[in-house]
Amino acid sequence: VPDARPPVPPAPDGLLAALRAVVGEANVVVDADVTAGYERDWTGRFVGRTPAVVRPGSTDEVAAVLAACTAAGVRVVPQGGNTGLVGGSVPLAGEVVLSTRRLDDVGPVDELAAQVTVGAGATLARVRAATLPAGLDVGVDLAARDSATIGGMVATNAGGLRALRHGPMRHQVVGIEAALADGRVVSHLRGLLKDNTGYDLPGLLCGSEGTLAVVTRVRLRLVPVLAHRATALLAVASWADAMALVAGLRRVLPGLEVVEAVDRIGVDLVADAFGIRVPFTPTPAVAVLVECADVRDPLDDLAAALADRAEVVDAAIADDPQRRAGLWAVRERCTDAVATLGVPTKLDVTLPAAELAAFAVDVHAVVAAVAPGARVVVFGHVGDGNLHVNVVVRPGAGSGAPPGPDPGADVHERVTVAVFAEVARRGGSISAEHGIGTAKRGHLHLVRSAEEVAVFRAIRAALDPAGTLNPNVLTPPA
Ligand SMILES: Cc1cc2nc3c(=O)[nH]c(=O)nc-3n(C[C@H](O)[C@H](O)[C@H](O)COP(=O)(O)OP(=O)(O)OC[C@H]3O[C@@H](n4cnc5c(N)ncnc54)[C@H](O)[C@@H]3O)c2cc1C
Repeated sequence: VPDARPPVPPAPDGLLAALRAVVGEANVVVDADVTAGYERDWTGRFVGRTPAVVRPGSTDEVAAVLAACTAAGVRVVPQGGNTGLVGGSVPLAGEVVLSTRRLDDVGPVDELAAQVTVGAGATLARVRAATLPAGLDVGVDLAARDSATIGGMVATNAGGLRALRHGPMRHQVVGIEAALADGRVVSHLRGLLKDNTGYDLPGLLCGSEGTLAVVTRVRLRLVPVLAHRATALLAVASWADAMALVAGLRRVLPGLEVVEAVDRIGVDLVADAFGIRVPFTPTPAVAVLVECADVRDPLDDLAAALADRAEVVDAAIADDPQRRAGLWAVRERCTDAVATLGVPTKLDVTLPAAELAAFAVDVHAVVAAVAPGARVVVFGHVGDGNLHVNVVVRPGAGSGAPPGPDPGADVHERVTVAVFAEVARRGGSISAEHGIGTAKRGHLHLVRSAEEVAVFRAIRAALDPAGTLNPNVLTPPA
């Protein structure tokens, strides 16, 4: 197969030697077979080339690498676990890749403060392995936990499975250390809960997608491990009822951790594709999955709260792992079930609570206007207002028939523009969790004013005047 990637750009004279002097010969990787793994993103949609992958092992080395690249006029893409989904972690225009994976130290768990300081390259799984024995956990969890790094999760402000209860990554970070593009280091790792001494650097770097600084160490607040769980799958008659249910349960269930929803098309698809038993006949307009977690069994509290809710047409409830897994399957298999139909346009959006129900209904007409005959499946983290809109423009026949063909980039873009415009019209966000990256920078104007984008650019210019860091992401080209 011919190599369709752009040619490897040459590094300026002397740069590789300077980098080797900082991190050692073995940590400046130029072998194309090895760099290939850093040049392609997780989705396979974004592929670039790099003259070198540099793997610093300390904050000082990160700072020196950045100073050398800035002095040489070479741009740098920071990369953690490379699990990002918007193309922000790969060198699309010949940048040097700065891999943080060697910065993987995990400090002792501070049980008095319920905090821990970790290297930016430590994976979420590695950090949790250190904290769980102390009865403490990281407040954010996501399926990419074995590869996603804490630095990458900060840089993307990752949301994940427990955002309803603990908030996204921004709510977990109580201290940060980072290297600026010119080699200076800012470090504020004391982790004081109350510390009103100026601008909030953790808040600024959360969601900055590698454009302002390279995060080197992070102080995280930790949450208690809640070993007891109760789960319910509920049939409701409409998205409006689903939203009323969320609001009602939130008021009476302090242990509420998860509220997910799947529309009728999604529920039928999961049942059809994988033979998963759905405990309701007929299939409801929306199936809502609710889970509570606590230090004691929350089953009775959950059952009592549900008994009071008129929106619940039918319910299945469980607290044993096997039956809970059966209920979860209806939600967890949605992504795979959509893939059996064809190649979806996948959109991860947030709606204001007051708009979500109407959007979930109207999005079908919005898509039909630009892609007649498309299948639209809506599911997501409804407790956070976060919906995944999946559009299969050329679906197969289902029931084991082959999936339909990829409709092509133009069609995906047409659907994306239509749905994003509807999201923006209703005051929502075009990126719930994954960031803007390269994939969505052309759509940023839909949800951020010209004044806001100008402020973004000014902040970038203040921290990185030479424009070294991650030039292809977040702000649209000037
Ligand atoms: C199976 C799967 C499930 C997922 N589930 C979720 C989910 O539930 N919720 C969610 O929010 N995301 C999810 N993601 C997306 C992804 O895991 C997150 O965006 C994660 O935070 C990325 O971490 P990473 O270390 O892989 O970062 P990378 O992909 O390496 O980088 C992501 C961005 O952060 C920058 N960056 C990385 N490290 C640093 C650093 N130290 N300093 C500065 N910038 C840096 C990069 O330049 C890039 O712009 C999922 C991904 C997969 C593959």
